[in-house]
Amino acid sequence: MVSSSANLSPMMQQYLKTKEQYTDCILFYRLGDFYEMFFEDAQTASKVLDIALTGKDCGLPQRAPMCGIPFHSADGYINKLVASGYKVAIAEQLMDPKLVKGIVPRDVIRVVTPGTNMNTQALDETKNNYIMSIVYMDNAFGIGVCDVSTGEFVTTQMQSNSELADQIYQFAPAEIICNEALSISEINLEEIKNRIHFSISSMPASFYDDAFCKRILMEHFHVASMQALGMEDYENGILACGVLLQYLFDTQKTTLQHISSLKVYTTGMYMLLDTATRRNLELTETLREKQKRGSLLWVLDQTKTAMGARLLRQYIELPLLDKKQIEARLDAVEELVEDFIDREEFREYLAPVYDIERLIGRISYQSANPRDLIAFKNSLEMLPHIKQLLSHKQCSLFADTYKHFDTLEDLYDLISRAICEDPPLSLKDGGIIQNGYDPEVDHLRNAKSQGDQWITNLELQERENTGIKTLKIKFNKVFGYAFEVTNANLNNVPDYFVRKQTLTNGERYTTTKLKELENEVLGAGEKLIAKEYELFCEIRNTIASEVKRIQATAHDLAIIDVFTSLAHVAQKANYVRPKINEKGIIDVKGGRHPVVEKMIHYQSFVENDVFLDNKANRTSIITGPNMAGKSTYMRQVALLTLMAQIGSFVPAQSAQISICDRIFTRVGASDDLSSGQSTFMVEMNEVSNILRNATKDSLIVLDEIGRGTSTFDGMSIAWAVLEYITDQKILGAKTLFATHYHELTELEGILNGVNNYCIAVKEQGDDIVFLRKIVRGGADKSYGIQVAKLAGIPEPVIKRAKELVTQLTDTDIANHAKEIAIKSNEKPKKHINKPDEVDINQLTLFDTVQENDIITEITQLDLDNMTPMDAFHALCKMQSKLKNRI
Ligand code: ADP
Repeated sequence: MVSSSANLSPMMQQYLKTKEQYTDCILFYRLGDFYEMFFEDAQTASKVLDIALTGKDCGLPQRAPMCGIPFHSADGYINKLVASGYKVAIAEQLMDPKLVKGIVPRDVIRVVTPGTNMNTQALDETKNNYIMSIVYMDNAFGIGVCDVSTGEFVTTQMQSNSELADQIYQFAPAEIICNEALSISEINLEEIKNRIHFSISSMPASFYDDAFCKRILMEHFHVASMQALGMEDYENGILACGVLLQYLFDTQKTTLQHISSLKVYTTGMYMLLDTATRRNLELTETLREKQKRGSLLWVLDQTKTAMGARLLRQYIELPLLDKKQIEARLDAVEELVEDFIDREEFREYLAPVYDIERLIGRISYQSANPRDLIAFKNSLEMLPHIKQLLSHKQCSLFADTYKHFDTLEDLYDLISRAICEDPPLSLKDGGIIQNGYDPEVDHLRNAKSQGDQWITNLELQERENTGIKTLKIKFNKVFGYAFEVTNANLNNVPDYFVRKQTLTNGERYTTTKLKELENEVLGAGEKLIAKEYELFCEIRNTIASEVKRIQATAHDLAIIDVFTSLAHVAQKANYVRPKINEKGIIDVKGGRHPVVEKMIHYQSFVENDVFLDNKANRTSIITGPNMAGKSTYMRQVALLTLMAQIGSFVPAQSAQISICDRIFTRVGASDDLSSGQSTFMVEMNEVSNILRNATKDSLIVLDEIGRGTSTFDGMSIAWAVLEYITDQKILGAKTLFATHYHELTELEGILNGVNNYCIAVKEQGDDIVFLRKIVRGGADKSYGIQVAKLAGIPEPVIKRAKELVTQLTDTDIANHAKEIAIKSNEKPKKHINKPDEVDINQLTLFDTVQENDIITEITQLDLDNMTPMDAFHALCKMQSKLKNRI
């Protein structure tokens, strides 16, 4: 940056010394009322912030590029830099410049980074702001994830790239820190980065020291071993969390006491949703516009607090797998659905509740102001009412919450007694502490406001004592207060009057009492401000020391808010409680799509049934013209299953839902231009992921497989995929399969567990009417021209298309398909792999998939923990996969 520092001014030398330690940051260097930036930092910041770039003489032949911003409006500028992916180090003056001779000592008091920004203006209150630490070592990944604004801290480990990618998508962190070895793993972070924006930095290898990481975790969480944190088997998790904690200490420079617990979770506790499924089902944002409106979260989120909103988002991202836990949540929803009054009361009490979870972060950082404490107090005021309502709730979830629900009355009482109802924002203006809380504050405040009166009273009193009628107390900036006595009255001056000054026509005196008053009155203003500030900090620290209790209450409030919201939606939108089973049966009567029905205002949505099981009804092939409602129907089934597993009621007349370990979707054609993939390649990637990872307990939704290639290729792929999925020896997952290849309906009766359904349409003369009703049987017509007409294609084009269609029938294709179906029934598989009509290259794609799968499976076997019987079963499974391939 600067070649020689010998000629630099002392201030520039100080600047450069500080900058040396923060080379990866933009350094905000406090100079009076400004933060200044120099050299490259100034060049970068002036561009990003759109502010003037000037220069400063710094002792070098050339002026140093410089730009600056006023300190009181720094937040907005910091947020902008951080949002652009930069880190900002804030160097403050550590002493009052007035009290320092020479250069003021300065140091960095905090580094703001994308994943650690605490500024409320920069954060969306309905979303967490995560920083993720990733460690890749010994072919496994460990992650530590923290939301510094709320204190949440979790960790887990995983083996595969795809699992890690799913976790990154799920948390959508604003910042990632990692070890350098991550670059040699096969995870493609650049691709993920194109979808969710985060900044990434790799930490030096020396940080990843096992002993150091354990020590820092034990010290911070006050435990004696990794076992106490439940992390003894999480070697990479320990490294990820240890380095993350150190990074947070280095950047935040506080004790981080609000990060008070570290939760270990296993990916097996929740339904794993891969990225494509999460996006296709539009769980928290829509596919195209990336908006909340139109997503499942939009329908379900009637929460009243920011904490509730964030928790509901987490619930939607992490559906449960455990029946007991799901039932417990459903019990809570049911109890509130049935009690309208309690529900409304909860909602009313929750509405004024402030974002306590994030506030406690600011309190710990000592950045909360008096108004924050009043907002906190107003929230606490609601707690006894909420507890009262909880007291007569029966379900286990609410009963547990009631048992430990802490109403924090001591803190409410403290703030009520101590902090004024309408305090100023600033800590430096006084007016924070209530009258009656502290005798010294009361006295100083009296001295400040009543000082003049006290002086007048003393004047009257001494006039009476001395009998000098003209006795006056005068004030002078140099000498302060004094009694003034004219020469004529000097005889009457008592001996406790001490002479201060002689005037031409009289004398000035002081007394012990007057001196005392003077001291009080003159310094009262400043002393008062200092005392109020000191008390405020004391109170803030007292609250900070109760962080664990406050966090527990905040979490309880979030839970109550989420269930109240789910119950409110269930009742308003007429949802029912799903019956959860583990027998593989999904039986929904009169089901509706929660988002589509809300979009069309619940009026004309046509209900539909679904029945899937592990036996004769595993796969539904769904045909019907474009726009008939196939995608809507299939997503509806997936969404209802997911809703049930987060513990929500579902839009249906009745619903039996089997717990699914995973839901996979391949819905709609979408080019992923950001990652440079064509529609067909995206589709095949998604299908490949499904075939590799689904199990017999998964629910698969496939929409128009094979559309992006030639008809024969496409149909062959769709066909082969169907065979693979429905084969119980390989997969046997529950599947909804929409296709425009009507030929595939031939598979009903040939492939076990496959049934045809179609979405009914009615022909009216030359046109069609969509009935939106799912019925048994396959569609035999595409109605493409009718749909084109509905879409407004000009009449001459429609007319010409009709002429052509009569010449170009697809009978040939249908005949081929029938042939294949019959032959493959005679000799399953064999014929399918070598038909003249089918593109062999496309099918070998799936052969290779299987071989690779088996190699991966063998490598991943945990032989140490397998019984001989387990090993036998594993071998059988692999053999049968290989056999089925031939
Ligand atoms: P497809 O996948 O068959 O092309 P979609 O599922 O995209 O059709 O549905 C097309 C439109 O039809 C949707 O945007 C929706 O507005 C409407 N729709 C679908 N299903 C229903 C239904 N059951 N009731 C009312 N409208 C529906």
